[in-house]
Amino acid sequence: MFLSKLFIPISKDLPAEAKIKSHQLMLRTGMIKQSSAGIYSWLPLGFKVMKKIEQIVREEQNAIGAQEMLMPTIQSSEIWKESGRYDDYGEEMLRIKDRQGREMLYGPTNEELITDVFRASVKSYKSLPQLLYHIQWKFRDEIRPRFGVMRCKEFYMKDAYSFDLSDEEANKSYNKMFFSYLKTFNRLGLKAIPMAADTGPIGGDLSHEFVIIAETGESKIYADKNIIDIDLNQYELNDGSLSKMREDISKIYAVTDEKYKKTDFDNHVKKENQMITKGIEVGHIFYFSDKYSKPMNCLIDDKDGKKTSVKMGSYGIGVSRLVGAIIEANYTKDIMKWPKSISPFDVVIIPSISKNNKENLEKAEKVYKKLKKQNIDVLLDDVDENMSNKFKKHDLIGVPYQIIIGSKSDGDNFEFKELNSQSEILNLDKIQLKLKS
Ligand code: ATP
Ligand code: MG
Repeated sequence: MFLSKLFIPISKDLPAEAKIKSHQLMLRTGMIKQSSAGIYSWLPLGFKVMKKIEQIVREEQNAIGAQEMLMPTIQSSEIWKESGRYDDYGEEMLRIKDRQGREMLYGPTNEELITDVFRASVKSYKSLPQLLYHIQWKFRDEIRPRFGVMRCKEFYMKDAYSFDLSDEEANKSYNKMFFSYLKTFNRLGLKAIPMAADTGPIGGDLSHEFVIIAETGESKIYADKNIIDIDLNQYELNDGSLSKMREDISKIYAVTDEKYKKTDFDNHVKKENQMITKGIEVGHIFYFSDKYSKPMNCLIDDKDGKKTSVKMGSYGIGVSRLVGAIIEANYTKDIMKWPKSISPFDVVIIPSISKNNKENLEKAEKVYKKLKKQNIDVLLDDVDENMSNKFKKHDLIGVPYQIIIGSKSDGDNFEFKELNSQSEILNLDKIQLKLKS
């Protein structure tokens, strides 16, 4: 992509309404545009990043055997009346009437809808366990939408649901998801802390929030520092190993503020390891057993032919919130550097251009073509602007690698720079290898 052709409405001014870095940066680099309070359009640059995050989330769900499907955004009120949540959910639910006067709603979450799908077809324990997920827009009429994509009314979420015959089996599904979440956040370049959480309005008795450390976060973290260094490589995708993982992790103290008790904290965590800080919730998992299957009559025949309510859990990841959260985690001073796995481009070529010297631009186009052939996603900054402005702009856009074409380039050797470090002169073949590794 040539920068001059890219729809990227960069703005030089600091947007007054944006209080935190990620929100400012997303507006300044034209990743999003607010449409109304808490509702955004995703412009090409922001959309590209979000789609890359979505793909990593998807791959890690598929890796544990979860199956992707798609449920609608608009739901009927009937199923919510069955579960009892139509009244309980309150004003966060956006309620709509169709032309026949039927009560509908824009889904804030999907426990009811998936239970309805499930009960219509699955009748026997032989079809269990099942893990289903979808990645779909949600709507919650948040009273105070703020911080850009962090707390919106309309947001993009991956939500998964597990179905098992017994608590014991359900615990295995829970562990798989737990593992998948840690892997997902690792691939996104994040250190997410799994914190034991209260179950809140969704109900049930087992729940974890996955939180990344950030000054601007709305969640409080009370944890033993050692929780940050869990090495996932020691665990494998089988029930025994994952149960060991849960055991190991549960020994390291990490809780949300609803669960925090000073005496427990002091008893379980050495003073020098105590960490009290703030963070952003990027995922949340729950086991709630038959909370929905029971009132909604979602019954399964067990091995003895006896009917029993299916045991369920639900598992959310805030895909659109993650775009902002990753910026908060990676921004230093005036430089934003995307993790390689989700950067909007693999590399940007920055030629020094002037009115009477188009030579560098021609060189840049040649390099561009070569890299494209290697399936490397390249941005070429063909805008006629001085180099210092260009560098400032690319510090904000955050593509992690730059090929700078100016006086230091010679033949097939170019100035190559990783954001936040020194540049070096490298042969194009070497550059390609670095970009592909
Ligand atoms: P919060 O405490 O932040 O309101 P929640 O507990 O209501 O979150 P869940 O219902 O568990 O959230 O939703 C799953 C994930 O969806 C959350 O972990 C978060 O990443 C994301 N999410 C929830 N609400 C919003 C929102 N208003 N805007 C953007 N993302 C959200
Ligand atoms: Mg909420």
